[in-house]
Amino acid sequence: MNKAIFPGSFDPITYGHIDIIKRSAKIFDEIIVVVLSNCDKNNVFSVEERIQMIEIATKDINNVIVKSCSGLTTEFAIANNAKTLIRGLRNSTDFDYEHSLAEIYNVQADLETVFLATSKEYNYLSSTVVREFAAYKGDISNFVPKELISIIENKYNNKES
Ligand code: ADP
Repeated sequence: MNKAIFPGSFDPITYGHIDIIKRSAKIFDEIIVVVLSNCDKNNVFSVEERIQMIEIATKDINNVIVKSCSGLTTEFAIANNAKTLIRGLRNSTDFDYEHSLAEIYNVQADLETVFLATSKEYNYLSSTVVREFAAYKGDISNFVPKELISIIENKYNNKES
């Protein structure tokens, strides 16, 4: 089976991520979306909340599963028998960062990185944009599926109380 992993923070998942997942699910037999919990980022959503949101957002794509990883992405790939890692590229800043990571993955674990260029309607979209709009009670309906809106808004409402 031709498996690929799509690792990231997904804090929270956006239409930009979902677009990459849908497109890669047409190329590979199975996509494992991997919520990284080892990042030094201060994530707003817990790993469980991020997994739940990804599961809701990808429920109609049969060959997608969601897992979390608290260790090295390379070790996760080896343990899960995945030979390919998927990353989305929005701009040259993404490329510069991702390019060096791809070399490390290849040397360390014989893992190939496949880059998918963002669809142009999501070029601007990041989890940071979603969090900033949600924090100021802005409309996030263009950024995430409707089933996720209340989960995200509730997080910020509860933060205030
Ligand atoms: P990380 O914190 O590891 O960058 P993210 O959750 O921000 O993880 O993103 C995971 C992957 O999704 C990365 O490859 C990122 O470039 C890609 N990605 C994020 N937003 C978009 C988007 N709007 N279009 C295409 N790819 C995206």
